[in-house]
Amino acid sequence: MKAHYGYKDGAGDFFIIIDTDNCIDCTDHPCVPACPESVLEIIEDDYDDMVASVTGDHRKKIKYSCAPCKPDINRPPLPCIEACPKNAIEHSW
Ligand code: SF4
Ligand code: SF4
Repeated sequence: MKAHYGYKDGAGDFFIIIDTDNCIDCTDHPCVPACPESVLEIIEDDYDDMVASVTGDHRKKIKYSCAPCKPDINRPPLPCIEACPKNAIEHSW
């Protein structure tokens, strides 16, 4: 399942999309320590699987939470995406 975390406003769509099917076999969850802003956490989903998620606090301000990783020019690869061995994480902006 692709879980969307974030919001849409006049400035655009700001969502982190996590393909949680890919998290089920991921044992060490490297996305969590890779994020310098502690945006990601591991939760138990409705099917009793441990999957990545965006914390409740960050969902409401994700554009700002991720801003340090997203300079306007020369944007480097995002640490969360780089860390995930299963390409489970996408960003909409
Ligand atoms: S590293 Fe990727 S596959 Fe593993 S828990 Fe994080 S998002 Fe899911
Ligand atoms: S872009 Fe940066 S702050 Fe946002 S989730 Fe990824 S690693 Fe964390």
